[in-house]
Amino acid sequence: MTTQQFAALVGATARSMAQARSRVDPSQEVRGSFPCLKCGSSLHFRAYPNQQTEGRCSAARCVNWSRQ
Ligand SMILES: [Zn+2]
Repeated sequence: MTTQQFAALVGATARSMAQARSRVDPSQEVRGSFPCLKCGSSLHFRAYPNQQTEGRCSAARCVNWSRQ
């Protein structure tokens, strides 16, 4: 993976996290999906009432983050 590819992945992850965080509901855990910002595959996420999120693109070696 080149530095440029790595930067693109980090950027897509950060933007995906922001998108998941925008779906936070203070009263319940939210599960959903949206098109991956990097590859367009389905990206499944969970948003917790405490503002933590996690998400994973259905494509291998793509956007993926755990609770943070
Ligand atoms: Zn992806």
